[in-house]
Amino acid sequence: MTLSSDQSAQALAALGAAARLLYGDDPLHVRLHGFFDLLRETVHHRDARLTCWLQSARPGSARQQFYSADAWPYPWDDGLTRTVAREGVISRRVIGLGGDGAGGGLLPAVRAAYLGAPILWGGRLWGVLELRTDHADGLRAAADDLIAGLMPLLAAAIAEEGRHQLSLPSGERASDTPTGLTLSAPDKQRLAALNSSLDEAIDLHELLSLLLHRALEASGAEAGAVALVDHEQRELVLHTFEGFAEDIDVGLQSGPRQRWSLETGLGGQAAQGRRALLVRDVTVEPGMSGAGAGFRAELAAPILIGDRAEAVIILGSPRSDAFGEDELSFVRALCARATQPLSRAMHYQEAIEGALYLGQVFSSLPTGLALIDINGRVLRSNPSWEALWGLHGRARRESFHISLDLIAHLLPRLSEPLGLTEFCDRVLRSPSQDLMTTIHLLKPNQELEVRSVPTRDSNDRITGRLWAVSDVTRERESDRLKSEFVSIVSHELRTPLTSILGYTELLMSRDFAPEERQQFISTVYTEAERLSQLVEDLLGMSRIEAGKVKLNRWVMSLTNIAYELTKQLNTSLMNHRLLIDIQSELPPVYADRDKVKQIIFNLLTNAIKYSPGGGEIQLRIHEARPRDLPVNHPEGRWVVVSVRDQGIGIAPEDLPQIWERFYRVDNTNTRRIGGTGLGLSITRALVEMHGGQINVESVLGRGSRFFFTLPVANELARR
Ligand code: ADP
Repeated sequence: MTLSSDQSAQALAALGAAARLLYGDDPLHVRLHGFFDLLRETVHHRDARLTCWLQSARPGSARQQFYSADAWPYPWDDGLTRTVAREGVISRRVIGLGGDGAGGGLLPAVRAAYLGAPILWGGRLWGVLELRTDHADGLRAAADDLIAGLMPLLAAAIAEEGRHQLSLPSGERASDTPTGLTLSAPDKQRLAALNSSLDEAIDLHELLSLLLHRALEASGAEAGAVALVDHEQRELVLHTFEGFAEDIDVGLQSGPRQRWSLETGLGGQAAQGRRALLVRDVTVEPGMSGAGAGFRAELAAPILIGDRAEAVIILGSPRSDAFGEDELSFVRALCARATQPLSRAMHYQEAIEGALYLGQVFSSLPTGLALIDINGRVLRSNPSWEALWGLHGRARRESFHISLDLIAHLLPRLSEPLGLTEFCDRVLRSPSQDLMTTIHLLKPNQELEVRSVPTRDSNDRITGRLWAVSDVTRERESDRLKSEFVSIVSHELRTPLTSILGYTELLMSRDFAPEERQQFISTVYTEAERLSQLVEDLLGMSRIEAGKVKLNRWVMSLTNIAYELTKQLNTSLMNHRLLIDIQSELPPVYADRDKVKQIIFNLLTNAIKYSPGGGEIQLRIHEARPRDLPVNHPEGRWVVVSVRDQGIGIAPEDLPQIWERFYRVDNTNTRRIGGTGLGLSITRALVEMHGGQINVESVLGRGSRFFFTLPVANELARR
């Protein structure tokens, strides 16, 4: 900011008046009151404060603070003071005071202008002058030139005061503390005042922040940090810090939860050597990188638990004489006093983290878990528990009772209600036993495996039970499928093999008339074909499941395939009539020829197989009109192929299952007809690989219509 000639004259006058005032004979605080008033005439601040470090016989902060006479009730922010001291330049900010803001208590919220000026003179920092006013855009008149001009005057006054105090008798300086340390009287008072808050702080973060603040306050350091020692990694882990800029590269490193090796910096040395250390000027100390840019003095003290350092307090200052024996003793005493609270807070933290961790595991497990008290009431349950039983928040109701409420809730779905009741009864009668059962639920079908184990307290007394429930529907289903597979396959193998062996044995035993022989041989042939079909189906299924089937797609006509197939099937059509209805000018499809042939072949052979009384079988192929397609069918042009028979039909409850592997409708007809239950699942997989869909309509005893879609070849594919 530059000044007009009027303002310059005013500033010069203010400087002159300030010099006269500050060099007066009154005590420093009286002179400063006058100085603040004088400044107000030019700068129009609301209140002001001067923080300074008086020189003392030995290095150390000896910090003092002076306030303007009519100070505002809003507390000052020491953190801001430290920042100004560390940055070493005049700082202007708009700050929020009162309301919910820092330290404002019940005072109304105000947006204030703040100006902080470091008192630098002769290469050292003497203090910080701070001004505040209640207009956010105030303090403009405090031109940097004027402020800069005032700094040497203030520095001289502070230096003079220090010298003056030096010559005073030192009075009570130090005494032995119970920890064997020497503390000055004010430090002893400070530590005593801290006692109860240290004992109250049970939260680790709260405790470490408290320790840091007290250390900063007592030492007058501009910056400080507390790090925890990670003995396993041999590192310090930054826990809380103040006064370090976010972006500077410090031995401490910036940002929360940073780590650095125990081998670097004074903090590491203090932790390893298990004693407090002080370096007056890190810039001249060999091997010391310094806690941060611009820092000279550094102090580090470990907090020991047993004989291990578990945390370190590190303080830094740009003033090389910032710390002396007093500061060292105070921080050392603070650390000694912090041993017990730290140990307690670390245990507390561990317990909290353990509980949190367990809580996370509890809520994320796919197994449903519920802790039940001795009376059978649910104390706590995880989301899987509710989802598996379909409880939707009901279990959180306070008085959910494991047997009464659970049974009542599940009753409509229990296939055997007695099973669960008996299990709950057993649980009640044998409180110390691990018990297990499987519960079968209907609509939808679900098999749940339930385990109930007693829970105990630290005295081994039973406190209730932990119920764990897991959904085993799929496992049971695959077990069922496996055993079904073995029984179907062995039956399907045995039947043709028995006939083949029987007839060949017969043929070998003696001569038969030529017609008879021919009949036997053709039976052997049909049975061998059946065997080969079974092997084909099994291989086909396993190849599809392994994802090994690739389509070889071309633009192709379905008309040809239809005629080829009718020729092939002619021999199997005994008392059936096969009708073929193909749309004239049927558009070509984009498909794998062999696979499409296999699909239609499967449907036609099923139509023949499952209409043992004969009748009409219709194969119809036409382009779909939009209303022919099911609602969820992909859009575009499609050809529909349908196979209709007048056979045994399928009951509505069996319809959804016929597509499953090895599923066969269980009735006398199907049992007599024979089959593997694989054909339709292979067929569906092949249709879906083409992007189409397959469906069925059927009336029991009247017949069925299976129909599927294939994509019409688009212009691009046709070329
Ligand atoms: P498979 O014919 O070898 O038993 P599929 O997978 O081809 O096996 O068919 C599964 C079941 O669907 C059959 O067992 C049968 O019960 C029923 N099914 C299939 N097609 C028809 C049909 N056209 N008419 C009546 N039921 C059928």
